[in-house]
Amino acid sequence: MQIWPQRTAFMLRAIAAVVALVVALAAAAIHSLTAAWVGPVVGAFVYLVTTRKYRRRRRLLTAPFPERWRDVLERRVAFYRALDPDARRRFEDDVRIFLAEQRIFADRGASLDDETRLLIAASAAMLCHGMPDFEWPSLRDIVVYPRAFDEGYQTSNGANIAGMVHAQGPILFSQRELKLGFSRGDGHNVGLHELAHVIDFADGRADGVPGDLEWVATAPWVALVARRLAARRKRSGGVLRAYAGTNEAELFAVAVEAFFEKPAELRRRDPELYAHLAEYFRQDTAGR
Ligand SMILES: [Zn+2]
Repeated sequence: MQIWPQRTAFMLRAIAAVVALVVALAAAAIHSLTAAWVGPVVGAFVYLVTTRKYRRRRRLLTAPFPERWRDVLERRVAFYRALDPDARRRFEDDVRIFLAEQRIFADRGASLDDETRLLIAASAAMLCHGMPDFEWPSLRDIVVYPRAFDEGYQTSNGANIAGMVHAQGPILFSQRELKLGFSRGDGHNVGLHELAHVIDFADGRADGVPGDLEWVATAPWVALVARRLAARRKRSGGVLRAYAGTNEAELFAVAVEAFFEKPAELRRRDPELYAHLAEYFRQDTAGR
């Protein structure tokens, strides 16, 4: 995520300047030349409002990254441990921005400890680590349940849903499965899985294709997802766990889990799928 995106800031300055000029000319024409002062005031106001998010990010990152948060990342997030110092700093910035801008709630008696919040933010930071311009939508609430839940959102015995993303609504996580996902490293990580759905759903479609993909890159993705879905349904034992055979959206989310948790195996057994993911995420997870 960008802290102070130069191009966007330049554009917002230009827009504020145009607004200032138009308002000044209108005030001079309607009232008098001395009323033109209102133009720069309105322009400055527009600039301050439109850059508020980035100014907050800059303020947020002036404080040092909390040492106890760093301990949690060191202990629980293998991806973070493997980063060099510069990349770690960028990862920590992404974690802090995510936590400051997303609303995370506990439900059904879950307690929101630092580790839970950090593992959700770490999942997001892993996915966007190679894409500095990427922005997570902040319109979705994130709700943490203590354990797996059922279709009625009850956490009774036998419930087996570890996470869920509603088309336009909240992202739900089971706290227990979220933590388990970061201890196994077996290609089953609900944090990565649900946030991969968010990326898929960005264009309003659950089609297994990243929502912000360039138009020319979409057709090869659609074809690849369809081929892998058919193959996964036909035979067992592939590099992607069986749940990938559910539909296109699940195939993408499971492939993302494998890309981050079993990258060497994914690259060896399915180099085409690996290459598509590496190109989209702009990361060579197997080569790290
Ligand atoms: Zn899913």
